[in-house]
Amino acid sequence: MEAAVPVETYMSPRRSVAFIGSECYPFVKTGGLGDVMYALPKALVKQNCDVKVILPRYKCIPWEYQQKMIYRGSFTMDLCADGRSYYVGIMEYVWDGVVYDFIDNEEFFSSGNPYTNLIDDIPKYCYFAKAALAALNYMDWIPNIIHCHDWQAALVPVYLRTQFVNTKLTTAKTILTIHNLRFQGIYNIPTIRYWSGLPDYVFNKDALKTGYQDANMLKGGLAYSNIITTVSQTYAGEIQSAYYGETLDAHLRYHSGKLRGIVNGIDYDIWNPSTDARLYANYDITNVLDKKKENKRRLQEELGLVQDDHKFVIGLISRLTDQKGLDLVNAILPQVMDEHTQIVVLGTGDGVYEDSFRYYENAYKGNVCSNIMYDETRAHRIYAGADALLVPSRFEPCGLTQLIAMHYGTVPIVRETGGLKDTVEPYNMYFNTGNGFTFDRYDSGLLLDAINRAKTFYFENRWCWDEMVQRDMDKNLSWENSAKQYKDLYLDLTW
Ligand code: ADP
Repeated sequence: MEAAVPVETYMSPRRSVAFIGSECYPFVKTGGLGDVMYALPKALVKQNCDVKVILPRYKCIPWEYQQKMIYRGSFTMDLCADGRSYYVGIMEYVWDGVVYDFIDNEEFFSSGNPYTNLIDDIPKYCYFAKAALAALNYMDWIPNIIHCHDWQAALVPVYLRTQFVNTKLTTAKTILTIHNLRFQGIYNIPTIRYWSGLPDYVFNKDALKTGYQDANMLKGGLAYSNIITTVSQTYAGEIQSAYYGETLDAHLRYHSGKLRGIVNGIDYDIWNPSTDARLYANYDITNVLDKKKENKRRLQEELGLVQDDHKFVIGLISRLTDQKGLDLVNAILPQVMDEHTQIVVLGTGDGVYEDSFRYYENAYKGNVCSNIMYDETRAHRIYAGADALLVPSRFEPCGLTQLIAMHYGTVPIVRETGGLKDTVEPYNMYFNTGNGFTFDRYDSGLLLDAINRAKTFYFENRWCWDEMVQRDMDKNLSWENSAKQYKDLYLDLTW
C-alpha cells in the first residue's frame, strides 16, 4: 500500500525550482554542500515542488551515473568579452522525483577534481553560471525560483539581471545560499570581466568590486539575488561581524534585510541507528540504553581500548583544521584524562593536529585512540558507541556531526556558535531540559568546564543523563523541517 501524502503537502501551492551548484552527492561531493544539493531537492519534492538540479558534468562522475544520462540537446553560447562562443551540452538523469541536468563541456569539466586552482576555476564557474541559465532557456523550463549555492553559482543572479533580462527567465526570483563564506571566488577584475563578459557597471563597489582591483563573485551574487540564506540563524547574524564575516561583513550588513538562516537536516535513510548496517547492534529509543553499551564494548574491542562499559567515552569526528577548535582540545586533553574517561578521535587534516593526537594515543595507551583516517564505517560506529561527542568549533555555519550524534543518542558538547548554538539546547538542571553541554567564549578552560559538567552529570545523575539521551534521539532533525522553511520562503517570494 502506498504511504499517504500529508494533507498540508496537497494544500501547499506547487512551485518550480532550479537548484544550481557545483557538487551533489552521489555524483560528486567534497563537503557539506554536496549533501545539501542531494537531500534538500528530495525533501522539496515532498513539499510539492518541481525540482531540477543543474550541475557540471565532471569527468570524475562515476560511470554508473554517466551511462544513465540521456542527451537532452546542445547549443553554442557566447561567453567571453571578445565574443568567443562555447559548446553547451545537456545530459539528463531522473532519480527519486528529481531531474538532474548536467552541463557538458569537455574543455571546462575534464579535470579529475571539481576544484583545481583559481586560474582554472574562475573561467569554469563563469561558464557554468551562464550555461545553467542558457540551458533553462533552451529547455524552455522557466522556474519560479532559481536557488544558487556558494560562489561557484553566485554569478547566476548577476547574469539573470543583466544578460538574461530580456528572456522569459527574468520572471524567476533568485536565492543565494552561503554554505561556506570562506571561499568567495576572488580574482583581478580584468580576468573576471573577460571570462564572464559581464558589463562594466557590475564591477562597482556595491556589486563585484572588492579592494582596489579585484572582483568577488560571491559578493556580486549577494548584491543581485532577491534573498540570501545561510545554514543557520546564528551564523546569519555572526557573518555580519568582522570576526566571522571573512571581509564581507559590511556588505552582508547592508543586505541584512534579505538575509535568513535555515539549518540543515540529516538524511534519515543514511543515518538511522535502527537500520544502520555498519553498527554492531542496531537500536532505537526504546532499547538505546542497553544497546549503546554493547556498541561501546565492541568499539573498545575494535580500537584496542580497555573494555569497560562504565567508562565515559568521548568521540571527536572532524576535519583536523583550525576551524574545528582542536587547539582547545589539545590544550586540555591531559586534564580530561582520568581512570573513568576514554577519547576516540577520527579525522584527517593539518599535520600539527594529526601528530598531537598520535602523541596522546601513545601517552594514554588503552584509553585514547586516534584514527587519523577518513572512514565512514568507523564514523558510524563511533556515533553509536560513544557517550558524548565533542564539537568545540571556532566557527560552524551549521555542522552535521552534532546532529548525527543526537540522532544516535550521543550527547553533544559544543561551543555556542553558528548551527551548534541553534541545534543544541544547553542542559538546564532546574527543569531537566536540553540536549547537551555548551560553552560560549573560545577558551580551553571553558571547554574543560563543559566536559567536566557532562562527565559529572553522567556519573552522578545517570537517570537524567539517560533521559537526555532519549530526548536527543526523539528530536526531529530530518530535512523535512528545513524543506518546509525553504518552501515558505519560495512562497513568500512568488505570491
Ligand atoms: P564540515 O562540512 O565542516 O567538515 P560537518 O559537521 O558539516 O563539517 O560535516 C562533517 C561530515 O563529515 C560528517 O558527516 C562527519 O561524520 C564526516 N566526517 C568528518 N571527518 C570524517 C572522517 N575522518 N571519517 C568519516 N567521516 C568523517
